[in-house]
Amino acid sequence: MSEKVKGIVIRSNDRKEKDKNILLFSLEKGKVWATLKGVRGSGAKMKLAQNLFCFGEFVFEDGKAGKIVTGFDVIESFHEISEDIEKYFEATAVLEILNALEFSSETEVAKTFVLTLKTLKAICFDNNKHLYVLDKFLIELFKLNGFPLYSDKCSVCGSENFERVFIDYATGEIECMACRGFVSEEIPKTAFLALKFLSNTDFDRLNTLKLAENSELVLLKILVKNFESRFDRNLRLIGILS
Ligand SMILES: [Zn+2]
Repeated sequence: MSEKVKGIVIRSNDRKEKDKNILLFSLEKGKVWATLKGVRGSGAKMKLAQNLFCFGEFVFEDGKAGKIVTGFDVIESFHEISEDIEKYFEATAVLEILNALEFSSETEVAKTFVLTLKTLKAICFDNNKHLYVLDKFLIELFKLNGFPLYSDKCSVCGSENFERVFIDYATGEIECMACRGFVSEEIPKTAFLALKFLSNTDFDRLNTLKLAENSELVLLKILVKNFESRFDRNLRLIGILS
């Protein structure tokens, strides 16, 4: 029996002979491994389907050793991402984060899928400053998992009057100076403003933002640390943080 899904290639590994194993992040089934047969040979019909970021419609059949891709139509290859080193590192960071996630419901998969497409489009086509979209992706990911990071209020006393801002990574909450816990860490003001602006700006308006210099990188480190605490997974973000 064959099945059809809309998916994005988030990993692609060589297999024996000219085969490739691809990990798809799909709208219908979350993450699914499948094999592309003979795709490394020249003139292969489904050659595009082995490329990272490629978004398309995939048809599978169950084979002895797992799913075999028997049909593929490209919707958007996002091939421009692989032609620009900064875009490439930013977008592979998104794939690394997707690889680290586990999903508990179909709704969560669907929402994350839509978020991923918006993110890849914004990195690929919208002429955004480096790392703004990656920061936005993490901020939105926290929101859709039910633990938004940005708040204009202290999570303890409710005050909106911040002189200095702190984050408690154990809870992923923002605190004022008076309420901060022993392990809370200060967020530099410019990084907190970057968090606020990115949180309140839609993907298609990100290219109008101008954040304080370097605040996007300082914020990214805070977002990654929060991700690691919330999801109990470590991230490397090659080309950006390592
Ligand atoms: Zn407080």
